[in-house]
Amino acid sequence: MDQTVSEAIGYSAGCPDCGAELECWGVQTLVHGSVVWDTESRCAACGFAVADCGGELPSALRGRLLSERGPARLQVDPTARNTAVMRVLRAELGIGLAEVKTLLREIAAGTHSGTMPEMEFLARKLRASGVDAVAVRP
Ligand SMILES: [Zn+2]
Repeated sequence: MDQTVSEAIGYSAGCPDCGAELECWGVQTLVHGSVVWDTESRCAACGFAVADCGGELPSALRGRLLSERGPARLQVDPTARNTAVMRVLRAELGIGLAEVKTLLREIAAGTHSGTMPEMEFLARKLRASGVDAVAVRP
């Protein structure tokens, strides 16, 4: 059974109701083979609370995760067959041939990065197809 990979961050924002400091939490998790996220905000002053999840990861949350937790990199066995790697990446990311070729070059050069749950997701999909791959944090 694959372990859950999760990254959480805390941050603050202005309360939309009273202007006091809002306490916010954001988390991105790789669980049961998919990457999910949720956020929760709470105002201690007026009791305003909001929770959000589902759909595309908000770019602001992704930016916070990357800047506070640091990016992870995907390392793929350099002797793995490109066609096998490309098949997995195209299927999982829904990208075209030109994009996947660019991605492959980035991975080979060690410059492709993302959040740890995102990279771990791809590494697991690749391993499930027999390609040696790991997500690492430099
Ligand atoms: Zn408030």
